[in-house]
Amino acid sequence: MKVTFIDFTKQNKDIEKEVEKGFKQVIKDASFILGKDVARFEKEFSQYCGVSYGIGVNSGTDALHLAVRALDIGPGDEVILPSFTFIATALAVSYTGAKTVFADIAEDTYNIDPQKIEKLITKKTKAIIAVHLYGQSADMEEIQKIAKKYNLKIIEDSAQAHGALYRGKKIGSSGDVACFSFYPTKGLGAYGDGGMVITQDKSIYEKVLMLRDYGRVGRYNHVVKGYNSRLDTLQAIVLSAKLKHLDQWNKMRTEVAARYCRILSGIEGIKAPTIKNDRTHTFQTFAIRVKGKRDKVCEGLKAKGVTSLIHYPIPLHLQEAYKELGHKKGDFPVSEMVAGEILSLPMFPHMRKNQVEYVCSSIKDLMKNG
Ligand SMILES: *Cc1c(COP(=O)(O)O)cnc(C)c1O
Repeated sequence: MKVTFIDFTKQNKDIEKEVEKGFKQVIKDASFILGKDVARFEKEFSQYCGVSYGIGVNSGTDALHLAVRALDIGPGDEVILPSFTFIATALAVSYTGAKTVFADIAEDTYNIDPQKIEKLITKKTKAIIAVHLYGQSADMEEIQKIAKKYNLKIIEDSAQAHGALYRGKKIGSSGDVACFSFYPTKGLGAYGDGGMVITQDKSIYEKVLMLRDYGRVGRYNHVVKGYNSRLDTLQAIVLSAKLKHLDQWNKMRTEVAARYCRILSGIEGIKAPTIKNDRTHTFQTFAIRVKGKRDKVCEGLKAKGVTSLIHYPIPLHLQEAYKELGHKKGDFPVSEMVAGEILSLPMFPHMRKNQVEYVCSSIKDLMKNG
């Protein structure tokens, strides 16, 4: 059997009519940049998250970059973030000239370990980036306590957790500012690049609004050196259509994950994801840990027609791009261990029961005989 990593055929079918109609109207109106469709989706998505303001931007990376800049963070400042995340979390900080300070992760959720944050704080520390990795919220209450004590800002990198709940509230609503990606494979994905910054803070909102549009106020009055980073109007139409289905699709992902967990729990050497009881997991990524022979299992699955991927094989502190920080192997042991064992299995809302069963029986076979 062939099981692709993701298959959004059915998702695309669900929104086809609305997207076609919307695209036709945009082309007819020739209103390709910003306009009412982007404004409407900004409102829909920020309301969905339970916050006041949303600013559509070009990508999740840009959302993070503009958020860091809007907090007036730059050269001479430090920002604490997990050593195990997608590199864009760190790049956004580096673009501003601020220094990235890595913290190790917790072994159960793979999110930043709040206990490791406090000792990294210096006079230069300005903010903490909490990444909700794979679809499950970071420990926001513990992070908030630290931020309050040291007067730090919190940025939520929510690129992997659209619609996830933490203590009954949507992620993205508890920090100072939150950043989303709408890259096609994310939980809420466009038909190209896209991102959004959401916030409750009017002054952050106004700054990001300026930054995404050449730093201007009015037409020719440029207050800061801004960027060209706007959410494409056609993408806003796709995202608006998809948002109506997001909760249902997240529920379907949870059901696929539950089936995976039931079967995988019986396989020696496999660790299924841990879901904390005060939060939901949207399973943008269904990542298991494989003791000892992760790469062999990944290869073996491929031979059996199953695509699996590794998110992420190299933690940030060991990336060449960050060699100037002078880190070495052993500096963040949990990140390094997880990077060596983690394996993402096929996951999408419409994944069928027999597909999940086939992936699991293939893993069982490889663990025994591979
Ligand atoms: C995808 C992702 C980003 C970057 O988003 P892009 O839209 O690809 O720029 C940032 N952080 C995390 C955790 C991500 O998964």
